[in-house]
Amino acid sequence: MGEIIRAVSDEDFVKISVITARDVAERARRIHGLQPVGTAALGRTLCGAAMLGEVMKEERAQLSIRVNGGGPLGTVLAISDSEGNVRGYVENPEVDLPIRESDGKLDVGAAVGRNGLLTVSRDLGLREPYTGSTELHSGEIGEDLVAYLTESEQLGAACGLGVLVDTDCSVKAAGGFIVQLMPFAPEETVAQLEDNIFMMDQLTTILDEDDIEEVIRQVLKDIPWHIVERHSVEYRCDCSREKVTRALLSLSDDDLNELTADGAPIEVSCRFCDAIYSITAEEILKMAEE
Ligand SMILES: [Zn+2]
Repeated sequence: MGEIIRAVSDEDFVKISVITARDVAERARRIHGLQPVGTAALGRTLCGAAMLGEVMKEERAQLSIRVNGGGPLGTVLAISDSEGNVRGYVENPEVDLPIRESDGKLDVGAAVGRNGLLTVSRDLGLREPYTGSTELHSGEIGEDLVAYLTESEQLGAACGLGVLVDTDCSVKAAGGFIVQLMPFAPEETVAQLEDNIFMMDQLTTILDEDDIEEVIRQVLKDIPWHIVERHSVEYRCDCSREKVTRALLSLSDDDLNELTADGAPIEVSCRFCDAIYSITAEEILKMAEE
């Protein structure tokens, strides 16, 4: 289980969401067989999607972050429900890159690429989803998400996302924070926030060694705040036998006939989780009749 906390400054000028999501990122790693750089890229994107998705009020709403940077990982996609439960994938999970020489970190920017867009889409259950895009800055996800929030949604924002991968490639810590400034926030509050974020300990170190609230204590140091929401989140896929069967129904008759020609059930593996469905031709026929 992971956890999300939302807090606001007592004067209402600053909103912060924080997530700790070791288990979420580790589950993603195991499902997709990710290498460390893919674990970091997908883990960061999942954390960002969870925090942006969790604030949606519509119960059945979904928020997705899609990153197309032209790097070897290919598309990185994360989808959140309105409670911050997430699922996702990277197009090429087998990609592995050497540690970046300049700072000894996983080279997420090179793996994701910098030539392309970060696209956020909110599906509120209305006819058309609301979609906005911004050009990638570094491919490191966190900076790109800030660019999206400031350029596309016109909000003063700061964001930190981090995944710490252990020597055995499992996830040791993962999480993030998003700070949003309300209009008319006083100069000194903005300056204090900037100082705090510059001075704070490394995010994954806090999450690994301390607790999720310590992130808020450091980001909002000397700014009085209180918690408004706190709940658990997990890696959660919403696939089902019915949905998979329905998807097969949308294939053309020729394609379906070919798939069912040998009489054996059709094996369909979910793109987001480790579920494999074995669907028989009779089941597809039965649903078609219904
Ligand atoms: Zn699934």
